[in-house]
Amino acid sequence: MPAAEQRNRIAQVVPDLPTFAVDDGFSYAIPEGMDDIGVGSIVRIPLGARRVRGYVTSLRLGDTSRLKPIVGISGEYPVFDEGLLQTLRWAALHYVAPVSVLLGRAAPPNLPRGKGKKPAGELPQLTSAIPTVSGAAANGRHSRPLCLVTAGPYAATIAGAAKEPIATGRNVAVIAPTVDEASSLTEELREVFGERVLNVSSSLPAKQATRIWVNANNHGGYLIVGTPEIALWPLGSPAMWVVVEDGRRAMKAKQTPTLQVRDLVRRRALVERTAVVFLGPIPTLDTLAKGAGTLEFAGRVWPLVELVDRREDAPGSRSLSPATVQAVRGAVKRGGQVFVFVSRRGYAPAFRCVSCRELRRCPECGSGPDRGDTCRRCGTPLGPCSECGGRRFEPLGAALGRVGEELSRSLGDGVVGVIGSGRQVLVGTERDLPYVPSAALTVAVDADALLMAPHYRAEEDAARILARVVGTVARGRGRRCLVQTAQPSHRALAMLRSGHPLQYLHELEAERERDGLPPTASLLSIEVSGDGTARAADIAGVVADGIQLHGPEVGGGCTRWFLQGQSLQEARVQLRGIVQQWRDAGLKVRVDADPIDL
Ligand SMILES: [Zn+2]
Ligand SMILES: [Zn+2]
Repeated sequence: MPAAEQRNRIAQVVPDLPTFAVDDGFSYAIPEGMDDIGVGSIVRIPLGARRVRGYVTSLRLGDTSRLKPIVGISGEYPVFDEGLLQTLRWAALHYVAPVSVLLGRAAPPNLPRGKGKKPAGELPQLTSAIPTVSGAAANGRHSRPLCLVTAGPYAATIAGAAKEPIATGRNVAVIAPTVDEASSLTEELREVFGERVLNVSSSLPAKQATRIWVNANNHGGYLIVGTPEIALWPLGSPAMWVVVEDGRRAMKAKQTPTLQVRDLVRRRALVERTAVVFLGPIPTLDTLAKGAGTLEFAGRVWPLVELVDRREDAPGSRSLSPATVQAVRGAVKRGGQVFVFVSRRGYAPAFRCVSCRELRRCPECGSGPDRGDTCRRCGTPLGPCSECGGRRFEPLGAALGRVGEELSRSLGDGVVGVIGSGRQVLVGTERDLPYVPSAALTVAVDADALLMAPHYRAEEDAARILARVVGTVARGRGRRCLVQTAQPSHRALAMLRSGHPLQYLHELEAERERDGLPPTASLLSIEVSGDGTARAADIAGVVADGIQLHGPEVGGGCTRWFLQGQSLQEARVQLRGIVQQWRDAGLKVRVDADPIDL
């Protein structure tokens, strides 16, 4: 045997620079006295002539004679472990983002220091609605992700499910779509768990957010309620994740990397062997297609729904049917709270033919058009009414302001207002839904605009939004929800009336599979600022068997391509190089994994 060569500790470090060029990291010698360095440590390293921050991704023994040493350790402990690192790497690949960008998402805003505070306080007696999942989580076992089909309120369900794992000293993490929803869930859960509930959201000052990161990282027995970014925080590897309404837009980042909460949480649960529960009235096709189980409580998921058939209205009846106006008047007279739901600002209403009252839609793709004469989704010329050849069309809905004015004309001054005005009749859009007080009557003005929105997920989205709208109605006799539509036999509306979504969702899932769309297949959109058509050859280079390339489409100041296929893994790997090349050339590039508006 040759004499043992000198073997010292070496760290592989990914510099904290947002570029694919440093994805693999570089090797550095760990000097004596820095024995604390481990996977996930934040360190300072020399890089060229600079000193930069970096994350340790692995350790090994070897010859350090030709390596530069690490300069120092920042922060008192690692910001990820091997398990979380796997998820971070997976996300870097899936979302076509530099590894360093993802590693940074695990870290708190400031450097982590201090021991943090232990949770304290008695735990109440609670029973779980999902004892098998709660039990598995408490015993550190992975269980199949579960969609709990419920229109809320969520706090009691979460409290019951979380109690057992918390009692065994594990953490439970809850992700809500918005800051306000996370705060109000926190308030309700504090009534049960007191100071064991930690609230963290994107609006928190860095110091406070860091303190919570430290508490949850160093101790078990906490219930952490936060906004989407906590999906990549270590949080002491929670025994259970609860995701509230994962189909909401807020659950997917708009900027690159376009991280989707459910993907991250599902991935972590698999690697870290923990439980995941998705809560919401209509589970996403994605969770179902990727193997989640479902549980529906007895009874309807949401209250009863009545359809108002707009085909019965005379032309010129504006955005509210006479039958609806009458119902609103009645509710006002009885002193009840009324909520009128209109589509988001900037949304095109559904249009119908003035002569035959049929909805106007694109003959090619079925989308509802806006005021123009070509389809806003596929560009097909629309022409006259396909039923009767009529050339005049009228909108069946309007934006918030217009609907409010119409209502004020029928009901008088001081009755109608926006959410938060305290008026008896409130008009609001999707983003107002979390703030609607429990209503005696709720009206959805234009279900058709949602159902015919110009993207492949329109129907799924519409069903989910409408179910949330229905959920604003208080339960009990005399409470009503009216949904205005010119297509009362639409299957999404039939499902809404039935109060049970699962059968319908399986139907949608089968159609997506047939059409090669997510969740069964993958989509990837690549967007580059300006006219990028000259770069088309780069993109064409990643196309292989089983991948379809769409584009380039030039418009709106950018050029866009889509890749579609059963697996885009290989394409994602190749895109990393291309995206870096383009960025190095000064182009602004946005990659969206499973874009939602196609
Ligand atoms: Zn017609
Ligand atoms: Zn079209």
